[in-house]
Amino acid sequence: MNSGGILSFVIPLIVIFCLFLILREFWTWYFKQNEIVKKLNRTNELLEKISQELTRKPTTQEKPVEPKKQEDTNRWDCPKCNYSNTNKTSTCHKCGHKLK
Ligand SMILES: [Zn+2]
Repeated sequence: MNSGGILSFVIPLIVIFCLFLILREFWTWYFKQNEIVKKLNRTNELLEKISQELTRKPTTQEKPVEPKKQEDTNRWDCPKCNYSNTNKTSTCHKCGHKLK
């Protein structure tokens, strides 16, 4: 075997290998781009659907929930004079009757 024969056999192999690597890189890049575009399109579709849903429905559900009045539950009625006292005190504001 002479060196020229070996080179003529090895060089095409190297070239093919390099082409394989370059093309592999190219295709993976290419398809990833396609995938990203697909996903972005899907996201846009979903966002459009959501915006349509939001614009279709009236905004009645966006009313702020009124805070529950805790006053009524925190009050106690005096058994003596029927005065409605706050829970902060144990003695009646009106007649001074003491709760047990
Ligand atoms: Zn009282």
